[in-house]
Amino acid sequence: MQKSLKKIVFILVLAVILPSGIFIFYQFLSLDQNERIIRDIYSKQLDAILYSINQYSEDVASSWATDIEIIFNKNNSIKASVEELNKFSADFSSIESLQLFDLSDNPLLLYNPHKEKMEASDFSKSSLKKDQLLNYFKNGYRKIEPVQLQNEIMHLVFYVNFGENNYLAALQISPQKFVNEIMGPKIKEMTQDQFAISISKITDGTNIYESDDDSEISNSFQTKSLWMIPIYQLGIDLKGKSIDELIQERTLTNLILILGVSFVLLSGIYFVMVNLKKEFQLAQMKSDFISNVSHELRTPLALISMFSETLEMGRVKSDSKKQEYYSIISREANRLGRIVNTILNFSKMDAGKRKFNFTEMDLNIITDSVTKDYNHHMVKNGFELKKSFFSAELIFMGDFEAVSEAIVNLLDNAVKYSKDEKIIEILTGVDKDSVFLEIKDHGIGISDEHQKKVFDRFYRVSTGLVHDTKGTGLGLTLVYQIMEAHKGRVDLKSKLGKGSTFKLLFPKS
Ligand code: ADP
Repeated sequence: MQKSLKKIVFILVLAVILPSGIFIFYQFLSLDQNERIIRDIYSKQLDAILYSINQYSEDVASSWATDIEIIFNKNNSIKASVEELNKFSADFSSIESLQLFDLSDNPLLLYNPHKEKMEASDFSKSSLKKDQLLNYFKNGYRKIEPVQLQNEIMHLVFYVNFGENNYLAALQISPQKFVNEIMGPKIKEMTQDQFAISISKITDGTNIYESDDDSEISNSFQTKSLWMIPIYQLGIDLKGKSIDELIQERTLTNLILILGVSFVLLSGIYFVMVNLKKEFQLAQMKSDFISNVSHELRTPLALISMFSETLEMGRVKSDSKKQEYYSIISREANRLGRIVNTILNFSKMDAGKRKFNFTEMDLNIITDSVTKDYNHHMVKNGFELKKSFFSAELIFMGDFEAVSEAIVNLLDNAVKYSKDEKIIEILTGVDKDSVFLEIKDHGIGISDEHQKKVFDRFYRVSTGLVHDTKGTGLGLTLVYQIMEAHKGRVDLKSKLGKGSTFKLLFPKS
């Protein structure tokens, strides 16, 4: 039996615990990796948003360059274009001025709608790569290059073509206005209250634009410089909870889930093991029961057949001997009957098929009657029965046969599990709502550990006298079931080596 249990445990470990353990361990290790993956996903998503904001700023600049080129081409002269340039610049307050240079850097137009006089800017010391720009332009791609000349003075530099010639145009813009008037509305439209975007100066970090009241570049999850105004940077984060908070929350949820799953798994395994152990114990007890019962039946049968054969053969001459043999046969037949009854009653009760016939009765009277019948057996075994009955009637509703059976089982046990001190005390009385009967012996007693289990079916304590004593392990189960059927209970007080007291409590009628 133990071997089979070990085998099942081994299979359980191999088939369930090991794979689940590895899986949980792997999940636990991947928490960090998951965090990185989530961070990566967010990062890519936010990058894409920053990219499209930048793309938009470039599209605006590019459309301005096209508009300016169209104005010059339409009028076919720089001077004649000024009027339309006025209209154009009036639409976009972020445009400060426009300068046009020929390919030898001679200024051809110094247009500033806010100033009467303006000086041509000198781009020679700037980072501007004119040749590269021109090369691109000749190949059909108008690149717009942002150039910073002094603090906060930004030019968008690009080439235009009209009258068969290429010219370098430098459109000065106010970065602050560009951000607030051109980019602000677009950012609002794109983020749609999901993201918080801010724009700040790279040099000192001062915010010049916030899509949300508390979107600070310092809190941003991700930053990128602004293509058209590289002195500024864009910052982005989720609105409400920050991505770090979200990731932490997710990680925590995953961790709790993993721990929860582990707990459920371990509890499941624990319950399976406990139940398995119980099942195996029950199987063991059943097999013990069969061997005990066979033994119990064989002994009286052997005695009956031996003495009846002896009598039959007429070998016994003296009457007293004959009498002795008859009483042995009758005693053993009674014993057989009791065993068979116990088993039958147990199986009826277990199947819920036992019928009870409840009538009003006096516990004193039924106890007296049972003990009188049983007294003969006790005296023969050298026991003394001390009775102490309550002075008044102890009326309750009971089934005479079942209650007698419970008392006989307890007396039987008191005899079976006593050693030298052969005194059994029997006491009746009243508790609050019950009438009771106590049977006390001075026998081997039952340890605390076994007291809970002795009422279980087939259970027999495997130490002390029990191996030498015959039994089915069903006597106390029957007592318990009978008391349950009477809506009463059985209490047990016992000390190993000192004796046991069983108390039957019936509800008062
Ligand atoms: P059994 O047929 O083995 O006596 P029971 O169900 O009547 O079965 O009792 C279960 C076990 O409880 C016994 O095997 C014995 O170990 C223990 N037991 C019962 N009554 C007593 C008692 N009066 N003193 C000591 N042990 C007892």
